[in-house]
Amino acid sequence: MQMRKKYAVSALLLLTLCGCGADPAAQEAKSLDLFAMDTYMNLKAYGSHADAALKASADRITELEKLLSVTDAGSEIYAANHADGAAVGISPDTETVLDMAAKVYAESRGALNIAMYPVLQAWGFTTGAYQVPDGEQIAALLAETDFLQVTVRDSKLTVPAGMQIDLGALAKGYAGECVMECMRENGVKSAIISLGGNVQAIGSKPDGSAWKVGITNPFLPDENLGILQVTDSAVITSGNYERYFEGDDGQRYWHILDPADGFPADNGIVSATVIGANGLYCDALSTALFVEGADRAAAHWRAAQDFQAVLVTEDARILITAGIQDGFENLTEMPVEVIAP
Ligand code: AMP
Ligand code: MG
Repeated sequence: MQMRKKYAVSALLLLTLCGCGADPAAQEAKSLDLFAMDTYMNLKAYGSHADAALKASADRITELEKLLSVTDAGSEIYAANHADGAAVGISPDTETVLDMAAKVYAESRGALNIAMYPVLQAWGFTTGAYQVPDGEQIAALLAETDFLQVTVRDSKLTVPAGMQIDLGALAKGYAGECVMECMRENGVKSAIISLGGNVQAIGSKPDGSAWKVGITNPFLPDENLGILQVTDSAVITSGNYERYFEGDDGQRYWHILDPADGFPADNGIVSATVIGANGLYCDALSTALFVEGADRAAAHWRAAQDFQAVLVTEDARILITAGIQDGFENLTEMPVEVIAP
């Protein structure tokens, strides 16, 4: 599997205008494709304000990429990672993402830990030069991943010398959230976007029916395992099929690491989809639930009560939280089990 440069500079901007009939403005989608934050994105908006909203959204994504990228030497994250422990001024955008990282770090008891970056580097997930690091190397690097040492005070971020952070687990969710805001500011009432498979929707379809969002089958990633009906929601997935390599031992090693041992999280979950009102929160959660595994994820859901989830286990069961039972259609033979409150 080929690895693209993390958060590659927005390369491709393709504006596709679909349709312009008699009174079509309210019904026909304007669509924009772009490549940013290391992923392909598609934005679709309906109504007479769609063009302006799409343009504003693309500009906003480019702006966020420049702030949040871990590889762009001009970004705030890069500056903090390379400041030898000095405090670095950050924008409200970066602070919002860091606040969410801290909230979900606490709620997941460290399953989401944005300070895992040096360990991700050792595995080659940041460059594509994949390798299985030896245990001693991982242990040494893990000693430098205490997220609680990373601080934000007076809009200044401090990453201690020897540590590095990366927002790959939640930056796209924040970008989606900002796109939703651009759409609303421009008067769009119906829109749906996909940022590398993570979906966020405004309102419902122009005909008033719910959006139908496919959830990837982690065992057959070209197919959907189910369809979710949503309005005004984010649907965000973390999966073991998204970025991985095969080791000499024939084993698959994927890009979401368990901060407990520095190895790819292997707690019985192969994909975790989170559904909720806020894309930033859902993105942080999708990574956290993936690491937590089914039992901890269920406990997390019961404690938080402000999101829903679809978990797929390695032994091919679909676990859905009680709040989305009615909106989920299973397209597979896999059994569905409901996680009760
Ligand atoms: P996502 O697809 O949203 O689950 O994000 C996965 C990305 O988050 C990876 O490519 C890494 O950059 C980063 N990452 C991996 N493991 C963790 C972790 N335990 N906590 C926070 N970020 C992680
Ligand atoms: Mg995530």
